[in-house]
Amino acid sequence: MSARDIPSRLVPGVIYALFENRDDPTSFRGLVTCPGDAASAASSGQDPASAPRLAPATSARKALNIFKHTQARALAVVDAAGCFAGAVTRQDIEQALGRRARRLLREARRANRALAAERDRLLAWSSRLGSLHQASRELLNVLAHTSLETDLLHAGLDALRHLLLARYAAIGILDDSGGMKSFIHVGITEDAVREIGTLPEGKGLLGAVVADNVSLQIDDIARDPRSVGFPRHHPPMRTLLAIPISISGRVYGRLYLSDKQDGQPFTADDSLLAQSFARSLSLVLDNAREIEVVKSAQQELAHMANYDTLTQLPNRVLLVDRLQQALLRAQRQSTSFAVLFVDLDNFKVVNDTLGHSKGDDLLSGVAARISGALRRGDTVARFGGDEFVVLLPQLDDPEDAAKVAQKIMQATCRNFAIAGHEISVGASIGVALFPADAENAEALLSCADAAMYHAKKLGKGNIQFYSEEINSQAHRYLRLEKHLRAAVKNEELSLHFQPQIDGETLEITGMEALLRWHNGEIGSVSPDDFIPLAEETGLIVPLGVWVLHEACAQARRWQLAGTPVRVAVNLSGRQFQRHAEPSVLATVIAALAQSGLPPNLLELEITESIMMEHLDVTLETLEALMNTGIRFSVDDFGTGYSSLSYLKKLPIHTLKIDRSFVRDITSDPNDSVIVAAIVAIAKQMNLGVIAEGIETATQLQCLRDLDCTIFQGYYFSKPLDAAAATQFLAQGISGRP
Ligand code: C2E
Ligand code: MG
Ligand code: MG
Repeated sequence: MSARDIPSRLVPGVIYALFENRDDPTSFRGLVTCPGDAASAASSGQDPASAPRLAPATSARKALNIFKHTQARALAVVDAAGCFAGAVTRQDIEQALGRRARRLLREARRANRALAAERDRLLAWSSRLGSLHQASRELLNVLAHTSLETDLLHAGLDALRHLLLARYAAIGILDDSGGMKSFIHVGITEDAVREIGTLPEGKGLLGAVVADNVSLQIDDIARDPRSVGFPRHHPPMRTLLAIPISISGRVYGRLYLSDKQDGQPFTADDSLLAQSFARSLSLVLDNAREIEVVKSAQQELAHMANYDTLTQLPNRVLLVDRLQQALLRAQRQSTSFAVLFVDLDNFKVVNDTLGHSKGDDLLSGVAARISGALRRGDTVARFGGDEFVVLLPQLDDPEDAAKVAQKIMQATCRNFAIAGHEISVGASIGVALFPADAENAEALLSCADAAMYHAKKLGKGNIQFYSEEINSQAHRYLRLEKHLRAAVKNEELSLHFQPQIDGETLEITGMEALLRWHNGEIGSVSPDDFIPLAEETGLIVPLGVWVLHEACAQARRWQLAGTPVRVAVNLSGRQFQRHAEPSVLATVIAALAQSGLPPNLLELEITESIMMEHLDVTLETLEALMNTGIRFSVDDFGTGYSSLSYLKKLPIHTLKIDRSFVRDITSDPNDSVIVAAIVAIAKQMNLGVIAEGIETATQLQCLRDLDCTIFQGYYFSKPLDAAAATQFLAQGISGRP
């Protein structure tokens, strides 16, 4: 309205806006209120146009200031273009300010609450991190161990399970080929684990974690399409969190947890914690693997440092070490041991003519043969070039060292087939003994070396001991063997015969054939010396063939001369061995056939130990022989195993009471008890008895009193050569002076 239009009666409480022109908002003049209203702007008497105006952007504070100074009731708001926008009162502004303050307060309160929640969350997070840290620390403890210890992993896993409030947690660790190496689990029984069965890695839900090296978080296994292939027998599970255990792309296995106790799905935080744990674990596994790699490299290095690469034999370093050990032990136990220095004889020639690679083949072959000639516990080392050193840590007798040296010699002398060539090398061997020759490792080695040089000088293929005395002793043994080998061919053997007499009738019931050996160089050797040697070396087999032929031939001569007598031949266990060539059966049959001797004039003496050691072969052979009509006696009865069961099984005719029981029979009551027992057994089983080694009349009387009837011994006759035995037979016992 214009000034003119101001109504004379203004309504109280209403604010009137005055305009020059009612249709033009820019012609605003001022505000007018009823004069009765409290403090009014543009009150009557004052020009409303002089009252201050507010711009629309005027702050509430400035507007209140203006109200304060003008005492106006209302102020007009006019924009920059002079257009009237409206009117505001002080109360309007105060109310608006109040509303804003309340809103801000509300917002501040809300923000405070959010801050408190965030703080709680962070606190919980940090305590979980602390627990995880603890779990990881436990896990990292494993680092201190060379191999992963399951119980440590178990403890770590259990800590994680508690932390994440999971019902079930497991770690599967893979081997290099991707198979499950170990499966550690908590919250589930062994039985349930067995129920799960094994699922090939790379397949199924958890397989994918390993195959693709990705984490998996599933809220409901039953509904999730990714769960296809979840083990059928797996105990029920709802939620799942599975994390690969990997480092730098290498997957060592996986970790998984399931079913939170509060029934909620796993959260992103849970996943972060589990991942952090899996990272620690992968570090541990990676470290363990690295330790393994280093260890195997160390082992390889240690092997290289101690073994010869060509022959795989211990090298000089390891040999010296073993020598030291042998030395300490021998010193402690006051025993002795031997060091053999073996040098090949013709190696250089082979190497020069066939080349180094063939030389290497030969060395490997020699190494294998020397090893084969030794017993467990002995050491053969490659000392260098074509030199080998053998350590015999346990030695009862220097002769044993000679035997081993001889075996090595024979092993190296046999031909080697190298690249289509038959090569023979042979060796020179030097032997030193502890403590006789030297008392430390180095000195022993140089003694053996010196002995080897001496052997070389004496001609190739020689064995020499360092000490002259032992050397001659050992050589006597070696010489014995060498000569025994040639004894049959050189006709140095003969048979002596010892009569077996019936005490009642004084009839000669048999003749035991006893082997004699006389060598031009070494003289006569007792069977007690050469029979064991022949058995050890296997020479007893050819000797036994000779004895059987000779004994049968002699018995046949006696039969033809009209004094038939049964001849008893001793057999050795070696002759019964399955691989003995020729077999004892073939030999007996040939000897009988060649001599024409009736089988009932041949008796074979076998010791108890032969029967026990080779029972199956012996039984077979004896049965075959018995069918020919040959008789058997058990020699040295009572000294062996004395297991009587075999007596029933075998076709035995006679027991020979060992001469050790006869020797003291007059003075030792035990002996007469034993003899009485043997006689009783024989009677019971319907066997004959021969008492051996009768030297005196009192012994004879004692045996007679015990019911013995057949006797053999010096009292009647010493073993006689063939001529004397023939004469003895012709004269008979009664014809003797
Ligand atoms: P053996 O079979 O028990 O032979 C009996 C041994 O007692 C013989 O010793 C014999 O000479 C000896 N002897 C006999 N009567 C008396 C006596 O009254 N007093 C004493 N002190 N000794 C007596 P020998 O001939 O020295 O033979 C020893 C062992 O050598 C034999 O014991 C036998 O086991 C073995 N032997 C002998 N010849 C052969 C053979 O051709 N082959 C086999 N494998 N072993 C044989
Ligand atoms: Mg005998
Ligand atoms: Mg005997």
